[in-house]
Amino acid sequence: MTFVFDPMPTPSLPVAGEDARFPVRRIFCVGRNYAAHAREMGKDPDRDPPFFFTKPADAIVEDKATVPYPPETANFHYEAELVVAIGTGGDNIAQGDALAHVYGYAVGNDLTRRDLQLEAREKGRPWDWGKAFDRSAPIAAIRKASDVGHLSKGSIKLSVNGEVKQDADLSELIWDVPEVISIISASIELKPGDLIMTGTPAGVGALAPGDICIVTIEGLGDLTTTIGPKA
Ligand code: MN
Repeated sequence: MTFVFDPMPTPSLPVAGEDARFPVRRIFCVGRNYAAHAREMGKDPDRDPPFFFTKPADAIVEDKATVPYPPETANFHYEAELVVAIGTGGDNIAQGDALAHVYGYAVGNDLTRRDLQLEAREKGRPWDWGKAFDRSAPIAAIRKASDVGHLSKGSIKLSVNGEVKQDADLSELIWDVPEVISIISASIELKPGDLIMTGTPAGVGALAPGDICIVTIEGLGDLTTTIGPKA
């Protein structure tokens, strides 16, 4: 097959302990999955079905990268998140089978143009401009589930310039990893290479050029992102 121009390379992430990389297909994100964060966003933390948005696979930024401060925002936010990497696809995956579909886990940061997201939310418009912009998905190397096990509890923290801004525990997820996999796969068939960003705890806030933002998840390690000058 030939193409009229070179196709973009497959977005991918390193895998700890492997030379081969994890090819990324899609990035699903869970909205409001910690009660205290739902409250800080002005919403009731209840067990209404979760909702989702997506980011393009090529929004990925690796660990220790610099992300330029993005255009058209004056309120650029961090969001510490556990990322689930799907290794085996499927549809209508039962909760009891869900963890067998997980290749591994990673530390992520759901970078958000909060002003654009909230404007879209208020007007009933799509969230893409607030969530799915260029370089909006810093994600560290994937750790294989066969090495680190499955994560249902453990500290998730975020600091900016050494000051702790988010400090929670994965056990506080309203919808846990098996539930999220089961719910997504009932609607869209999951495929190998899909990533799921599972939502952020309370304490979201703004980043500025020059900031160093570090997300740490117990058992997975760190993700460091430096914010550069305005793009
Ligand atoms: Mn998020």
